[in-house]
Amino acid sequence: TPYLPASNRYDQESFRRCGNSGILLPNISLGLWHNFGFIDDLHKGRMIIRRAFDRGITHFDLANNYGPPFGSAEENFGTILRHDFKGYRDELFISSKAGFDMWPGPYGNLGSRKYLIASLDQSLKRMGLDYVDLFYHHRPDPDTPLEETMGALDQIVRQGKALYIGISNYPADEAQKAFDILNKLGTPCLIHQARYSMFDRWVEDGLLETLRSNGTGLIAFSPLAQGMLTSKYIDGIPADSRAGKSMTYLEKDEVGKMVPVIRALNEIAKNRGQELSQMAIAWLLRDPVVTSVLIGASSVGQLDQNLESLKNTSFTSDELDEIDKILKG
Ligand code: NDP
Repeated sequence: TPYLPASNRYDQESFRRCGNSGILLPNISLGLWHNFGFIDDLHKGRMIIRRAFDRGITHFDLANNYGPPFGSAEENFGTILRHDFKGYRDELFISSKAGFDMWPGPYGNLGSRKYLIASLDQSLKRMGLDYVDLFYHHRPDPDTPLEETMGALDQIVRQGKALYIGISNYPADEAQKAFDILNKLGTPCLIHQARYSMFDRWVEDGLLETLRSNGTGLIAFSPLAQGMLTSKYIDGIPADSRAGKSMTYLEKDEVGKMVPVIRALNEIAKNRGQELSQMAIAWLLRDPVVTSVLIGASSVGQLDQNLESLKNTSFTSDELDEIDKILKG
């Protein structure tokens, strides 16, 4: 059946300005790291993307290596765009990245101009796009001069292959150096994509301040700590969960260790009348420097549940204190 986007799609999301830029991003964005590779069910993925757009999610986040296999999430997303989103390109804000291992040899990894330019060209082909809205350097490369990597990002914007650029996983001091170079080049950094959740608060130690002072936004990835900040692991590890799968970045041991903390947080969420996942997302939105929370979802049901977090994003100071106490053990 042909897809007709919901006409009320912008009534349900709200948008935040990304740093000092002209761009507004939805409070909740959707990432395609998992669940969109050739190993996954494309129909299911397609339903998730449709539902996301129907509920006001305009921003979809990809990277060259999302899959598996590498590149397949971009290819599948390209297929979905072609079938369902003809005529809607200008309502979408699509990102990709390069920085991790992508193809063999010395030019398919890290931060050279050679790698970044070639990788984005490949990504555009896979997605069937003329340009991405946002292109990231995916992680710092200690061995390539930052001037070269940032110069490549600036070049990409001047070539019209990306409208904005961002960095990901850069510590605060490296981020500041990158911003200084980019500001001089006249291509300011739109956004920093960093891991941020109740279980990983490293960005609070300097990075958030750096972003605020540079006028750069933050998009928080793995906001649910890959699913740990939901109620799904409280009574064991379901076989069809990320931690239950054999090839995974979420170790069963790590999940097991966190269960007591998850239980305690779940009680606070219950008292707020929320699911734990909803509280975990709302908690990230308490600071306006966080432009968007970048979730993953393996079903339409999860997406729907997570989007409901926007119904209650305020916290009393008692709640915040109690959460801090639980997290500090
Ligand atoms: P999350 O922390 O949101 O984890 C998402 C996973 O949690 C889902 O796939 C699902 O896994 C589970 N889940 C989500 N909602 C629920 C729910 N309501 N109830 C129960 N389980 C739920 O984010 P991700 O780790 O997936 O990261 C999100 C995005 O961030 C990525 O797609 C990517 O775009 C980006 N990212 C960027 C990185 C970078 O280096 N820049 C690194 C990592 C991610 P399941 O059902 O399979 O258990």
